[in-house]
Amino acid sequence: MIKVERDKVAFYQFLGLRDFPGLSHFVSGREGGVSVGRQTALNLGFMDEDRDERVLVNRMLLAEAIGCGVDDFTLGEQKHTTHVEVVDRVQRGRGGRGKATRLPSTDALITKETGVCLMVLAADCVPVLMYDSRMRVIAAVHAGWRGTVGKIAAKTVERMREEFGCDPRDIIIGIGPSIGPCCFEVGEEVIEAAGEGLGDLKGLVEPGKQTGKYQLNLWEANRRQLRQVGVEDTCIEVAGICTVCHRDQFFSYRGDRGNTGRFGAGIMLNI
Ligand SMILES: [Zn+2]
Repeated sequence: MIKVERDKVAFYQFLGLRDFPGLSHFVSGREGGVSVGRQTALNLGFMDEDRDERVLVNRMLLAEAIGCGVDDFTLGEQKHTTHVEVVDRVQRGRGGRGKATRLPSTDALITKETGVCLMVLAADCVPVLMYDSRMRVIAAVHAGWRGTVGKIAAKTVERMREEFGCDPRDIIIGIGPSIGPCCFEVGEEVIEAAGEGLGDLKGLVEPGKQTGKYQLNLWEANRRQLRQVGVEDTCIEVAGICTVCHRDQFFSYRGDRGNTGRFGAGIMLNI
């Protein structure tokens, strides 16, 4: 990813997604917003610890910087499900101005509509952006460990194929900043669930620093499942930035011990 600074807001872009005409995308960081305290500064998540007015201002600042409006932002409720929703024009702006209108129990969004900015929020979970340049279809995925183990990224590609005839070989993927294997120490129960969901864990799990703990590599787990459904390895870009290690740049739930903000990853077909 590279850093872009525009209208006082800094955001990041994947090298593989930034040169397509008619496509906008971003991964936001902490810089540039009006939130204070543990939510400093560009918190995009409506939450008890921050004022809704501030979050709305942050979203407006970001929208302006990337060339859309806050009513273009379309979000799911993000419940660590593997539910994928296909978004049409009618759902544009759901969740953009508040929690109430978010698409219920949805962790992945797909659209072929222009002017709909699909956005997922994260603070350690893995945000994944997808673009099929031939069929002009986009997707945004929120994959925590549960979503990763449930193969939500692979399910999103499959749904793009079913719904819009996308060929996985045409899909370009950006796997954003999230908790890295360096900091994601988990217990036996998570490893068991990972084995059930993902099968062979070779190369995905290392012994942890603490005894009885393991390091689970969510980036590679997502990359592997995407390759398994036919995405080309050369079309998958992994930011490789650990949010816990880089909590000065990105919000991190574990790094900030639960009280933090949310950054966003969004993608839009321009009108
Ligand atoms: Zn780390």
